[in-house]
Amino acid sequence: EEKLRQIRKDLDMHVSGVDVAKPCIAFAHFGFDEALVDNIVKHGYSEPTAIQKQAVPVALSGRDIIGIAKTGSGKTAAFIWPMLIHIMDQPELQTGEGPIGLILAPTRELAGQIYTEAKKFAKCYGLRVAAVYGGASKMDQFKELRPGGIEILVGTPGRLIDMVKMKATNFRRVSFLVLDEADRMFDLGFEPQVRSICDNIRPDRQTLLFSATFPKKVERLAREVTTAPVRISIGNVGQ
Ligand code: ADP
Ligand code: MG
Repeated sequence: EEKLRQIRKDLDMHVSGVDVAKPCIAFAHFGFDEALVDNIVKHGYSEPTAIQKQAVPVALSGRDIIGIAKTGSGKTAAFIWPMLIHIMDQPELQTGEGPIGLILAPTRELAGQIYTEAKKFAKCYGLRVAAVYGGASKMDQFKELRPGGIEILVGTPGRLIDMVKMKATNFRRVSFLVLDEADRMFDLGFEPQVRSICDNIRPDRQTLLFSATFPKKVERLAREVTTAPVRISIGNVGQ
């Protein structure tokens, strides 16, 4: 216990919640397949970042997460890696259609970055990723989603709703939901769309919400869309 406290203190990490999994200080401790660890190392990552050390084991334990850490701290991989493991564990992987992992992002640029990061690790498992966002052809995105389907979908809230309305995809299989950059989604006025999407995903899903800052309005949304979350913050953010 004393050692655990020291590890978190050294990482400038604050954790709240009951029965929280211990942080892992090395990639080898996450329990990932060799192929995934090899892939991570091949990308030049030598050690998990602070948020990854704590968020990955908590997410792998099936818990919801509210993660607060500044930009550039490696939040994307912190949710992508557990999402891949979650998807590979789903009996529904072989049946049905529509994404199992869904990631909401505030902008086209961010959706694109998450897509790139997801693709490089999804390759290990042969999982398919797509991204949808405003300012690009709906027909092209429609076509990308339809045939054969995908397992991971990244998108901006408005365009995701459009795609569901067009029946290009559906959220029936979604059981792992990520709200990335929740504070920016608020600033850009996407709260109604975010809520509407969350309301249309099965309540027994796993939900991870990440933000660089944590104002009261974001905290309220976070508490509403998660169940018994573990809150992890790194550094002096959102206190
Ligand atoms: P955030 O979402 O917190 O702003 P990102 O997930 O975009 O941060 O990561 C920032 C950069 O750090 C990216 O270029 C990413 O590839 C890289 N990165 C992520 N995890 C690690 C790691 N464990 N070691 C080295 N680089 C990493
Ligand atoms: Mg990010």
